[in-house]
Amino acid sequence: MPRPERSRNPLVRKYLGASHKNLAGSRGLGELKPVEPTARQDGVPILGEDQVYVMKYGTEYHGAWCLVVAEAWDQAPRGLHVTLLADVGERNGCMGCDVILKQVSSALDQHVQPPLSPELPPSDALIPLKVIGVAHGILFLAAGQEHQERLNETAVEPATPLSVDGRRDGMVVRLDATRTEPLLVVQLDPRATVTDGPYQMHLRRPLQRSATKPYAVECVEPVPCP
Ligand SMILES: [Zn+2]
Repeated sequence: MPRPERSRNPLVRKYLGASHKNLAGSRGLGELKPVEPTARQDGVPILGEDQVYVMKYGTEYHGAWCLVVAEAWDQAPRGLHVTLLADVGERNGCMGCDVILKQVSSALDQHVQPPLSPELPPSDALIPLKVIGVAHGILFLAAGQEHQERLNETAVEPATPLSVDGRRDGMVVRLDATRTEPLLVVQLDPRATVTDGPYQMHLRRPLQRSATKPYAVECVEPVPCP
């Protein structure tokens, strides 16, 4: 019968741990501070943000699954640790990992579009509207036919305001761009007063990351007096 007690003896473990620390310390690399990896895939530790691989006796840290790491995992998986990038001490970054990480980031650059800027050119961002009706606290505004294409690509996100002199007077509830003259439906606040004059709609990029349309209504307002 095997006697695992011996290897589990805390004193022995403490002693071994201390000697390993001293070894690393004597090389001036800094103490090894393993953390739990963000995830494991078939037992393989997967790095999270700011995490790197280090080997118990290695002088380098690894930001990727390079050949050195793969070999270490094959030969002595228990010697492969994950630590925070901030805790690598004097260990140097592995060159093989640098090459891999550069390849990954250039592949990403090619396939991922840069994030859209929230600003739009002023000429694209403003759409004139005219009042076509007010009934039961609902204001109907129409846009010109020439804006139908753009408004087809425009979403109404929650809490889009009708803004009058910086005050919220209502909420945009719907945009119907299937009509030749696209229709904007605004639910008015009880205290809101409606003018017959021209209105305008500001567009921006959507705030919701799940947005399927490239534009969103930022707000609707009466056209300010000149
Ligand atoms: Zn490496």
